[in-house]
Amino acid sequence: MKDRYSRQTMFSAIGDKGQRNIQKKKVLIIGAGALGTANAELLTRAGVGHLTIVDRDYVEWSNLQRQQLYLERDAHDQIPKAIAIKKHLTAINHDVSIVACIKDVNASNLEVMAEGHDLMIDATDNFETRWIINDVSQKLSIPWIYGACVGSFGMSFTVIPGKTPCMNCLWKAIPFQSMTCETGGIIAPVVQMVTAHQSAEAMKILVEDWAALRKTFVTFDLWNNQFQSIDMTKAKREDCLSCGKERTYPFLDYTSGMKTMVLCGRDTVQVRPPKPIDLNINHLLSRLKKAGYKAQANPYLVHIHYEKERMVLFKDGRALIHGTNDMAYAKRVYQKILG
Ligand SMILES: [Zn+2]
Repeated sequence: MKDRYSRQTMFSAIGDKGQRNIQKKKVLIIGAGALGTANAELLTRAGVGHLTIVDRDYVEWSNLQRQQLYLERDAHDQIPKAIAIKKHLTAINHDVSIVACIKDVNASNLEVMAEGHDLMIDATDNFETRWIINDVSQKLSIPWIYGACVGSFGMSFTVIPGKTPCMNCLWKAIPFQSMTCETGGIIAPVVQMVTAHQSAEAMKILVEDWAALRKTFVTFDLWNNQFQSIDMTKAKREDCLSCGKERTYPFLDYTSGMKTMVLCGRDTVQVRPPKPIDLNINHLLSRLKKAGYKAQANPYLVHIHYEKERMVLFKDGRALIHGTNDMAYAKRVYQKILG
């Protein structure tokens, strides 16, 4: 046990002092997919003090090709990613305190979740959530590290409130639009490359080696052998609504009501009730079976077959309706099943 971090403390930029810092720090990882599992594993092995991981999904067979940590058993049993990741990380390093939540991150809950953390790591697959992370980062003054990948292409940038430009400042300077939808497939090595950039930056932040941080926006294409590192030191905008002088945090403006959204490239609609509810999974399962639905459950979710669609309903009332991109239809299916 004593030797656990010896190779890391021998590295002079970390040393014993840096290691003590790493062990004191709290990191929030948003998303437990490819980037989430890879970043979480590296930080757990590095001995970070506390990890909070939040994810809205469950493990599917198509995840196993690149989402390290997940096992065939997790996909077979449709275990929520938050539950599976906590179990596997604890087996790697039981000294790390880990809180894992099955939740959809949105403008109404991220601020509360992020409070008290030293760093946020973006491991999401959509810009809607990244804008919320960006505003929460500025409001609470917590650094965050952007990461995205699609196909063989990846990018990363580190946002330090008060020092670097924020994501909102960069929006016009970077062609993000091509990265907003995961439709081109993905190869696993690009996940590792983005993760390497994110977790190296994370370690610098945790040991407080601010001078070592990369100040550029990196993009690379591992298949076509391209690498770019773009200087962003002049990209900060005084009139930015997220980090400028007269900031309004535009992406934290939350309107309540039932929310439906199409999950990009997945032929899936997510339906979220106005407020989280606490479903009794066993009651729901027997009611659905009595009504003639095909349904199965684990302690966290119910999987229901309805006509041609598949619906997964989580304990908090959130549902993923697979096999459709029609939000109105998904809402009708949801209302019919919940009664
Ligand atoms: Zn900004």
